[in-house]
Amino acid sequence: MFDNLSDRLGNVFDRLRGRGSLNEADVREAMREIRVALLEADVALPVARRFIDAVTEKAVGQDVLRSVTPGQQVVKIVHDELVEMLGGQEHQGLLLEAKPPVVVMMVGLQGSGKTTTTAKLAKYIRERHGKKAMMASLDVARPAAQEQLAVLGEQVDVATLPIVKGQQPVDIARRAIESAKLQAVDVLMLDTAGRLHVDQALMDEMKAVAGVSNPTEVLLVVDSLTGQDAVNVAQSFSGEVPLTGVVLTRMDGDARGGAALSMRAVTGKPIKFAGTGEKLDAIEAFHAGRVADRILG
Ligand code: GDP
Repeated sequence: MFDNLSDRLGNVFDRLRGRGSLNEADVREAMREIRVALLEADVALPVARRFIDAVTEKAVGQDVLRSVTPGQQVVKIVHDELVEMLGGQEHQGLLLEAKPPVVVMMVGLQGSGKTTTTAKLAKYIRERHGKKAMMASLDVARPAAQEQLAVLGEQVDVATLPIVKGQQPVDIARRAIESAKLQAVDVLMLDTAGRLHVDQALMDEMKAVAGVSNPTEVLLVVDSLTGQDAVNVAQSFSGEVPLTGVVLTRMDGDARGGAALSMRAVTGKPIKFAGTGEKLDAIEAFHAGRVADRILG
């Protein structure tokens, strides 16, 4: 995860730490290198700029350079600023304490990993939160999408709403809520349809589904490998549906990290989970501090 960025920053840090003393020019030179590393990682330009400005101000403005271990202190400032950029120390967990059935609506583009993530999260909710979950696929656009969720449901041992051919998303959502109530389900996961691109028909469908299901969580699933595109997709969705958070998939293959690093600053939405593989338990609660530690080695 984020290996390229990690290597680049590691080199800058080794040099900083290796020096007994540092002056302002040394810090500015290191910041230039970090800025290039962030941009190569596909971090949005304004986010990279803000980051560098914040670190530079703290590093040259205080007593850091006169301290006994200036390099060490600059590294710590970078670390803390990275945690902020990733969303802060507090993990933003799922909001599941509303009156059941609590609805978690999953949205995103086709191929982002939405259906897999729905099943992963249902399993996570059952195992980690000890709650009874149910899943329903509202994807009537992609052939066999509903069957795919049913198969995954069996694998993770979470019930899925029986498929009624020809039923439209809003009606499926209504039926799912009724069924969840009858079966005393705590958390109902709605896997909505994806599209290849953000389009108005998709947004209208999302809004209609949210209108009848009153979701407590609306989680956007995006592919971290798409870098800034993932952030742009999040911007488009958040203008239309009340997103409560983001799940970044394929973090296992992401050597760059731009999506994770820009998401919070650009969209204001917290990254709640990270997908870290194809297996159905490959999902992790997103902790900015841990991710920063991984990046900084
Ligand atoms: P959807 O079209 O958005 O519903 O996408 P799917 O859930 O069908 O996922 C598409 C592919 O991405 C599948 O082969 C998944 O196994 C894979 N996938 C999903 N999440 C992850 C992840 O976090 N890491 C990896 N490596 N693969 C993933």
